[in-house]
Amino acid sequence: MNDPIDLNEFHWLLAIVQSIDVGVVVLDRDYCVQVWNAFMENRSGVQPKDAHNQYFFNLFPEIDRQWFRRKVESVVTLGTPAFTVWEQRPYLVRFKNYQPITGQEAFMYQNTTLFPLRSTDSKINHICLVIYDVTDVAANRHQLQAANAQLQQLSSTDRLTGLYNRGHWEENLKVAYARHQRYGNATSLVMFDIDHFKRVNDTYGHQAGDKVIEQVARLVREHVRDTDVAGRYGGEEFAVVLSDTDKSGARDFAERLRKAIEELEVLHNGQSIRFTISLGVADLSQPSTNYTDLITWADHALYASKKVGRNRVTVYE
Ligand code: GH3
Ligand code: MG
Ligand code: MG
Repeated sequence: MNDPIDLNEFHWLLAIVQSIDVGVVVLDRDYCVQVWNAFMENRSGVQPKDAHNQYFFNLFPEIDRQWFRRKVESVVTLGTPAFTVWEQRPYLVRFKNYQPITGQEAFMYQNTTLFPLRSTDSKINHICLVIYDVTDVAANRHQLQAANAQLQQLSSTDRLTGLYNRGHWEENLKVAYARHQRYGNATSLVMFDIDHFKRVNDTYGHQAGDKVIEQVARLVREHVRDTDVAGRYGGEEFAVVLSDTDKSGARDFAERLRKAIEELEVLHNGQSIRFTISLGVADLSQPSTNYTDLITWADHALYASKKVGRNRVTVYE
């Protein structure tokens, strides 16, 4: 080189590499460590003298060797840098995360850069690996995702009961209807309404009424399967979509629920509240033009249950 850096400058550069807050590792073509800066020492607990000439994969057995070798070979062959990002690969080497603010993440998320180092003869005999700690970026992203999931949850569920609210429930019914149209699997709907609920409110107060609604929702949750979709359709009206179930199966479900509620005792301020529900059942075994047909039919059946005396199940025929 006709313009060699002077010794001072060289020492400064060394001090900079030592003190910057990124990991710097130089590897030779046999993947043996030649440079190991303070960041690497602090995070790994391995001192530079112990890391020197060590096989990189022995220091970090968690690295996917095949993948990393391919990456390094491309850097050497093409003479251009390569990158990894935490979204695709959370880390290259596993370091504990000890940052107090982002303490909820178990390990350090990393972006890395690999670039070729040319010797004076311009051959590439070494590559430099730079490791960036991006844990706070990842932690922020995760918090945002969690907040979004919670918002989504809040906008789809009913506050009092935790069941799906009407809008979200209806979206689910549309999906079930579309699946039925396409695959022809049995799909039914159970709708029900609490009998003489106004009396509950009038006799025991609105809070007691709320408690009754909550307890009904709890029983519904206990009776449905994972694939069923239960929602609060209105004030004291509920609806359950049962997939892969015809109206006879749905009637059995409705009957079990009816009995369970008949036996339920809600306690409020030392008073025992007993009540019943009326139910309507319909399925898609007859021709339909829209998912709303199912609601209309189940509602008709529910109305019939009310008319003939309440506390019963009617199947729409
Ligand atoms: P029926 O047997 O014919 O269904 O009689 P009902 O008294 O239940 O009649 P209706 O459906 O007309 O009355 C429902 C009542 O439910 C009216 C409304 O004030 C009350 N309600 C609706 N939502 C809530 C709620 O969230 N909490 C309470 N406590 N009451 C509610
Ligand atoms: Mg009612
Ligand atoms: Mg009602």
